[in-house]
Amino acid sequence: TVVDTSGLHSLMIRFCRYTNALNPDMQLFETGLFPASFTLPKTTFTFAVLDNFLLDNLECGTLAMNYYSKLRQITSSMFPHLVPVSAVNGIDEGGQAVETAEDEKPKPKPGELALSCPPCLQPGVNVNLSEKNAANPAWLYSRSLVMDGNFKAEHLFPVNPTNEVALTDGLGFMIGNAQYKMHLAEAQDIPKENLTVTVVNQANASHHKLEVTGIGGCACTRHGCFVPHSMVDFQKGERF
Ligand SMILES: [Zn+2]
Repeated sequence: TVVDTSGLHSLMIRFCRYTNALNPDMQLFETGLFPASFTLPKTTFTFAVLDNFLLDNLECGTLAMNYYSKLRQITSSMFPHLVPVSAVNGIDEGGQAVETAEDEKPKPKPGELALSCPPCLQPGVNVNLSEKNAANPAWLYSRSLVMDGNFKAEHLFPVNPTNEVALTDGLGFMIGNAQYKMHLAEAQDIPKENLTVTVVNQANASHHKLEVTGIGGCACTRHGCFVPHSMVDFQKGERF
């Protein structure tokens, strides 16, 4: 699917397969198309539509959702609701994700839908540790992370828990629900007798009404980019 200012187009794209040819994603970039994913691109955006969205967003305050509605309207003014929202999963009118029967497609791994910090060390992506040069200083092959949280991001228990459906459970920055519940069941509280814990006690004061008392996670020290699949909901003060 090619997304352009003139609407959405389903086109066949054949990649060059010569021995010296660039990867499919780089070939798309060379022709002015920005792929939505890099390993097996299925959806691309023309540079024109991305520039146009930036301008609309800057001058008219258009949100991505509204801009996409406009593109759907341009594609099919009679049946805009039939224009797909996603190539992999359709989203029905109620906002529920509907799996299409394409089981043979590789499923994304935990955190894979979120982007890692590009300049930071990512083994297998921007550095090959097996080709490590011993002459280089050690800090070149290290990453420094900070952990912090927001203890005011409270979340009440939902009125209808069955209505709460995760669209990308554990595939982005947050840890998967089932995996996190398993960790919470295993994790033991270690009593910290020597610490002054007034802050934690204050934070715990009314936790029984809340499903979540805050949010925390890891970010890289230098650039402040959040680490995919590292964000957690605090259950009680700083506990996770
Ligand atoms: Zn970084």
